[in-house]
Amino acid sequence: MPGGPLPIEKGRQIIPYINKLIPKFDLVICTFDWHPKGHSSFGKYGEHCVQNTNGSAPVRELDSVKAKCLLPWFKGFNPKADSTSAFMCENGTSTGLFYAATSSGRPTKVVSLVGVATGICVKDTAMDVLDLFPNLPKSIMKAHGTFPTEIQVHDKGTACLSDESHEIALEEMEQAGITIIR
Ligand SMILES: [Zn+2]
Repeated sequence: MPGGPLPIEKGRQIIPYINKLIPKFDLVICTFDWHPKGHSSFGKYGEHCVQNTNGSAPVRELDSVKAKCLLPWFKGFNPKADSTSAFMCENGTSTGLFYAATSSGRPTKVVSLVGVATGICVKDTAMDVLDLFPNLPKSIMKAHGTFPTEIQVHDKGTACLSDESHEIALEEMEQAGITIIR
């Protein structure tokens, strides 16, 4: 957020759009970048989202209380491996969110993504959903009977370091088969 340690200039402008979207979904997963001091990602992105500091605090203006079911999820706490995606760490291990979401008792037909930054966490998460869900273990498929047929990323609910990098990321995702809601 603007004023934070890793500011995305337009970060605050997407909040009203996200607030309107939240009540429309049965399950809302709220991810927290949750880095220990000296985390491996700080070389690339600078120090940000340090555990128990303002940088990792929930965004106050988000009306997440309106969510029917809210699942907070912490990522990036392995000191040596970053996790820009909500689902996978860069070392190839799972964050566990995949299983938490699929065992929530809420069959998932649409995965809809918002947040920052479009070209980093949003894109990496969206690409992992593309990879992971068609490969659901049979036991989970049987229990839920469905897997997402659509992955959406919202243009007005995401922001990046620049308008250009935002657009490039949206185009890359669209080409990969993700629906961009404009
Ligand atoms: Zn981070």
